[in-house]
Amino acid sequence: MPGTQPFTPDEVYCVYCHAPAAGPCAVCNARCCGDCVELVMGLTVRRAVCRSCLARGARPADAAVWWWFAIAAVLLLLIGALGLAVLRR
Ligand SMILES: [Zn+2]
Ligand SMILES: [Zn+2]
Repeated sequence: MPGTQPFTPDEVYCVYCHAPAAGPCAVCNARCCGDCVELVMGLTVRRAVCRSCLARGARPADAAVWWWFAIAAVLLLLIGALGLAVLRR
């Protein structure tokens, strides 16, 4: 098929090392290869986050939801423990 395909080189190569890109970073959307990303647990799936986003502490938005769940669970446990302590007196 000579000359019929649009040529979009910017989306094909990793922005860090110019290897063929595997997919976009979940935080900054930069195209990255598998070597330049780390997999971070999101809400339901593992998300690829590039190393520069990890270096500045960025995480995917749905990964942050897990932190809120964890904090809420700890608070509920504390409230439950306090309630039991009061009831047993
Ligand atoms: Zn990124
Ligand atoms: Zn790369």
